[in-house]
Amino acid sequence: MGGNYAEIPILDTARKCGLVIDSRTVGRVEVDAKCPFCGDKPRRFHLRMNTEKQQYKCFLCGERGNSVSLYARVNGVSNGDAARELLRNSRVYQFPREPVSKIATERQPKPITERNAVYTAMLDHLTLGDRHRDDLRERGLSDERSERNKYRSLPQSRESRMLLASLLSNFYDLDGIPGFFVNASGKWDIAGASGLLIPFRDCGGLIQGLQIRLDGEQKRKYRWLSSRGENSGTSSGSPIHVTGNLASETAYITEGGLKGDVASFLDEDSLFVCVAGVSAIEGLRQVLAALDVREVVLAMDMDKLTNPQVRDAVRRISREAAKLRGVRVHAADWDARFNGIDDYYLARGQTTTQPLRLLAA
Ligand SMILES: [Zn+2]
Repeated sequence: MGGNYAEIPILDTARKCGLVIDSRTVGRVEVDAKCPFCGDKPRRFHLRMNTEKQQYKCFLCGERGNSVSLYARVNGVSNGDAARELLRNSRVYQFPREPVSKIATERQPKPITERNAVYTAMLDHLTLGDRHRDDLRERGLSDERSERNKYRSLPQSRESRMLLASLLSNFYDLDGIPGFFVNASGKWDIAGASGLLIPFRDCGGLIQGLQIRLDGEQKRKYRWLSSRGENSGTSSGSPIHVTGNLASETAYITEGGLKGDVASFLDEDSLFVCVAGVSAIEGLRQVLAALDVREVVLAMDMDKLTNPQVRDAVRRISREAAKLRGVRVHAADWDARFNGIDDYYLARGQTTTQPLRLLAA
């Protein structure tokens, strides 16, 4: 097959698949559609297609891929058949049809108090590996803070995971706890690749979910501990992590839980609200309202600010924050040699750097 899968236009494929496209977004680099996989929500378009990279991602269910995987999954054919069909470039288009929403029937996660109890017990049974501890020290975290944050290493081996899940199942109902599922041998098991576990906590300090910082060189370093799509599995959702001094009147918003934990530690426990991705901002306004802050400072990575999609997302975050009564919104700006705010704070402790600047957002 001579054609390049990565170049098959995603928007054209979406039309061939009969997706309902948000006409207001047509003509932009990012075009939105109703997600055919999770069924999306009424009047919402969570499937985002990037017409330059020719890829899609659903911000509700997490499905992602390119034209071939979209066509294959919607039509229930193999990737090979989908590619042949698309490269033939036929002019057959489906009439757009509303997807059937599967949201209501999707397994709902257990309430946060139960998730917190299971995750806390799980982390109590795990240790932090030497390599992960070294990584955390290098980022500027003290061992004491790593321990207080309950960072742990998720073991690779199936046996140790099944042993841990089986132990926990004696005390807790694991049904509805993201990350746990029933495996082919009918036993409780833990999903996900091995890596560093990072607890995502709510305003009350309860663990809502766990992120995994994957071991090894990966393009996407962070994944949720999620068992979506597995037998008796549950999706993690995209909880927002709150870390630092809850009484603070200023909240810094950054992307990534570990980054926020480190930055807060290096900046005298300042309050950080951490989204898993710049687009995962559902519930952000409610979190900021619950924290009752007077000032919100956007502290996203410097390199990303040159990316127009990230700039758009940052603008959306800033608009969300600006809807709160009596809250000032600023954007933080620092020495661009340091990409993340955590890198900047770490350097600030070691060398002379310019102070953090706040710009009107
Ligand atoms: Zn979806």
